[in-house]
Amino acid sequence: MPVRKAKEEVEMFRVWLRQNGLKRTYQKELILETFLGAEGHLSVDDIYTLVKKKDRRVGSVTVFRTLKSLAACGIAREVTLGDGLTRFEHGHRHPPHHHIVCTRCGRVIEFASPELERMQDEIMRKYDFQPDRHWIKTCGVCSNCRENRKGGEERPCDTERVFARDAVKMALATEVRLMEFFQQAAAANQDAAGREVFERIARLKEANIATLGEELDDVVRGEEDVAKAPVFLHFSLDEVEQNIPSLTRLTARPPAQGGRPVVEMALDAEAAAKLARFLTVTAATFFKDYAAKFPDTRGRRILLGFAGQQESHGDLDSNSYLSAWDSKS
Ligand SMILES: [Zn+2]
Ligand SMILES: [Zn+2]
Ligand SMILES: [Zn+2]
Repeated sequence: MPVRKAKEEVEMFRVWLRQNGLKRTYQKELILETFLGAEGHLSVDDIYTLVKKKDRRVGSVTVFRTLKSLAACGIAREVTLGDGLTRFEHGHRHPPHHHIVCTRCGRVIEFASPELERMQDEIMRKYDFQPDRHWIKTCGVCSNCRENRKGGEERPCDTERVFARDAVKMALATEVRLMEFFQQAAAANQDAAGREVFERIARLKEANIATLGEELDDVVRGEEDVAKAPVFLHFSLDEVEQNIPSLTRLTARPPAQGGRPVVEMALDAEAAAKLARFLTVTAATFFKDYAAKFPDTRGRRILLGFAGQQESHGDLDSNSYLSAWDSKS
């Protein structure tokens, strides 16, 4: 995979150099290759040291200028993390994010939060301001340092992979919640045809959970660092939960004479399919809005793919719903 990505970036860089009337040289491309081969937030010196191992003739000024060019064409992003140094991280196909920096051990945690972006957009609108970019940097002391623990070796890893990991986790959590809802609805529903609709959509969800599980394995396969990296994408299941009706509210009937409320419902096939459609379309919209905050990355494609699946799970009326299932099984 890194090979494909590097190719794209090499091409971007060549185009940029041409457009700016600059020469393409072996040294510049060696610096690009070295930069792409290293994850994390690297200073000019860090990259200079790495480049020197490959070719002693490359000077630090060339490294600095090339990194600036990479930032100008979007391959790199410049960040400062509180130690006064300008640092560079991968920019192309890497989701923008915020940084939490421990000022004692230098540990850096990266995170993204679409909720935070939404708030930011709202505030900028109030000032009638059009931001190019923004990032939040929080400096402080991490829990390891506060408790005098030695943190485990934490190597910087590919932000795009960690984002993809969290996107699958987010889809999984949502799908599990939806499956549970439909299973419970099936158990409570008195109408046989309606119950069947719920049972079938619950099985669709179950199958999709297995697929998402495989996708998660695929994202972290062979990358222990990616599997262990701190949460990157902040997502609260509460946001999904808001759209899932409470089954007790749907099913409770007032007690006949004095007793406890009767927990049952009787949705026919059409009503059951309508409810299923409402929930899956709501989930699809939520995931599409979430994805809209990110540039094209594997994580974004996962979020959009999940939205598409939800749409297909819901894009069926009760009849075609049943026949679509029949033709599949
Ligand atoms: Zn620390
Ligand atoms: Zn970063
Ligand atoms: Zn990277």
